[in-house]
Amino acid sequence: MGEIRECFLCGRNGNGDPLERHHIFGGANRKLSEKYGLVVYLCGDRCHRNGEYSAHRNADVAAYLHRYGQEKAMNEQGWSAEQFRDVFGKNYL
Ligand SMILES: [Zn+2]
Ligand SMILES: [Zn+2]
Repeated sequence: MGEIRECFLCGRNGNGDPLERHHIFGGANRKLSEKYGLVVYLCGDRCHRNGEYSAHRNADVAAYLHRYGQEKAMNEQGWSAEQFRDVFGKNYL
């Protein structure tokens, strides 16, 4: 079966740094991220957890992903920014 996956941030295919699933909105919103499909695949070491520009170590990268995730949710759910905030607790745009 094999849906082809690549890192959302750098486009690598996980060869040598296996891709990991990242919840765009973590913590209390992790379940909501799952519910609304707000997850991306990232190179586990380089882009997800440990790299200088990884989602969990770089505030700018996290903010970029938050904006992407909010826009995705608004498009897919037909939400306004206010409706997004009602669900996720914050407007990231
Ligand atoms: Zn993550
Ligand atoms: Zn990557």
